[in-house]
Amino acid sequence: MSRSELARAAKIALKRTLYPLVFRSRRKYRCVICAYVGPFAHKQTPKPLRSRLNAKCPSCSSMERHRFQWQILSDLSPASSRPQQTLLHFAPEPSLEDRLRPQFGEYISADLFRSNVDQRVDVRDMPFSDDAFDIILCSMVLHYVDDYKRALQEIYRVLKPGGFALLPVPMIHEKTNDAPAQNSALRMVVEPGPDFYDLYDEYFDEVRVSVSTDYDDDLHFFLEPTDAHPFPLKLAEQKHADIIPVSLKAGATLDG
Ligand SMILES: [Zn+2]
Repeated sequence: MSRSELARAAKIALKRTLYPLVFRSRRKYRCVICAYVGPFAHKQTPKPLRSRLNAKCPSCSSMERHRFQWQILSDLSPASSRPQQTLLHFAPEPSLEDRLRPQFGEYISADLFRSNVDQRVDVRDMPFSDDAFDIILCSMVLHYVDDYKRALQEIYRVLKPGGFALLPVPMIHEKTNDAPAQNSALRMVVEPGPDFYDLYDEYFDEVRVSVSTDYDDDLHFFLEPTDAHPFPLKLAEQKHADIIPVSLKAGATLDG
């Protein structure tokens, strides 16, 4: 282990030990990524829609949607099959990238704007051949992309038969607003609602929708807005269900 790796490991061990002691009155949750059990950290930021209660695992820094994606990925792609699989990861979340990269036979991180990725790639026009990837992760991206329909087409094209893509977007309204006000603070091309995923049916052979309410609350895949930053789409008891669609390309199953 290098010095910086040792320092990082020591910091994580300290957080794992101290957090449950300092916040002992808070509810305990379980992280599906790093197996930490204890209170999670609140996320506080002045940006709209970004502040949430009990959002972050203090041990691995994963947020709700990272853990939810990790769960779906673990269900569909067991660790034993990953050395034979190829994964394309758009806008990679560090807490996922660090763990996924060494597990897959081929792992490519991509982004149109970031420099700390393997390839600068426009999701609407990708430099990859047809049927190139078993799995594509592209979370919280499409609602910022002009012509996101072309992006869906491209993702389907480069996906292998039998492969799948996780393409979640935030749930902002009860019904998708595809013409947001120019001056909207959210700066999205489209402000999605649950019906946004109906569109995916037009581009993929099958779309299976996973909802956070299908999972134990202890895993905290749901979103908990603060009073200061309520979400436009209201749900009971401050629990805002998250939805992740699994979009499949027909063909032999991944492990068959
Ligand atoms: Zn964790």
